[in-house]
Amino acid sequence: MRIVTGAGGFIGGHLVRALLEAGHTVRAVDCKPLEEWYQCFGDVENIRLDLRDIDACRSALRGAAGAEVYNLAADMGGMGFIENHKALCMLSVLINTHMLVAARDVGVARYFFSSSACVYNAEKQKDPAVIPLREADAYPAMPEDGYGWEKLFSERMCRHFTEDFGIETRVARYHNVYGPNGTFDGGREKAPAAICRKVIAALNGGTKTIEIWGDGKQTRSFTYIDDCVEGTARLMASSVREPLNIGSSELVAIDQLVSIVEQIAGITLERRYQLDAPKGVNGRNSDNTLIQAQLGWEPTTSLRAGMERTYAWIEQQMLTGRRSTSVA
Ligand code: NAD
Repeated sequence: MRIVTGAGGFIGGHLVRALLEAGHTVRAVDCKPLEEWYQCFGDVENIRLDLRDIDACRSALRGAAGAEVYNLAADMGGMGFIENHKALCMLSVLINTHMLVAARDVGVARYFFSSSACVYNAEKQKDPAVIPLREADAYPAMPEDGYGWEKLFSERMCRHFTEDFGIETRVARYHNVYGPNGTFDGGREKAPAAICRKVIAALNGGTKTIEIWGDGKQTRSFTYIDDCVEGTARLMASSVREPLNIGSSELVAIDQLVSIVEQIAGITLERRYQLDAPKGVNGRNSDNTLIQAQLGWEPTTSLRAGMERTYAWIEQQMLTGRRSTSVA
């Protein structure tokens, strides 16, 4: 059996689909009502539980001896969310602590934790012409306040559960994952989806402007969802016990990302930069030396190809009036 937590979310939904396609029996867990899950599959045991509670974690893992657990549940969002909800982000430590304890007690075969590039030391991300981040760059620790500290702590807990209790853990540091079936409005959305939404809104509304958070010069790499899911499966099947980057190394400035979306939409907009909006670090890219060495693989989907699919999905959602769940 495979158990996916956060299964009602963006990455969790895609992961459940991939596990089903690979022929596995899947249990999917999330705290959201089922009708709000991005993807919900009939031939899956879908359970609604708030995993901050240890008894809920034990219910999620009932009968899971020998199972593989993918823990993706987290209270999170893009920079607009994590810069303004640091305590909420840190409370995901309850999920991650209780899931590990329940996993140890029931005797799961393998436990996956979705960490983040937000664990990396801020000092190494000050320049838009950033040197790609190697796994070792998480220490000495100075991660993103709130969200990043929680992820780094929970990574560390996985390590010590392996050392002290013998539970096999795998930890991925995801870098800006994007694609269809994710959040595109409501306050938790990330840059790729937000830019698609703004460009489509400008097209539909006949306006000629777009608001961009920051000065547009901050750089990032963006990882297409299919690569994220594939990397997760490869990491889980491997013997790699140290945290591993799962991220594209195609570095772009936010201005370039906007240009890609404009090209897809066939429009050019006047850019208005919001210098006081949350924008995160100045530069961040994934160094893929270790994943290449360990898994012989790295993400390959080009940003242009991934954004075309993402744009098409968001356009369809907006056409039919669908919304993401808003931040409470
Ligand atoms: P998401 O917000 O779409 O999914 C997270 C899911 O967790 C949501 O459906 C939410 O309802 C659920 N959840 C939150 N609190 C819960 C609780 N108490 N009990 C049960 N379920 C709960 O986010 P995502 O983009 O799919 O991210 C999945 C994981 O990957 C998260 O751990 C996130 O921190 C990590 N990650 C994502 C990215 C990215 O770019 N998307 C980057 C780095 C790390």
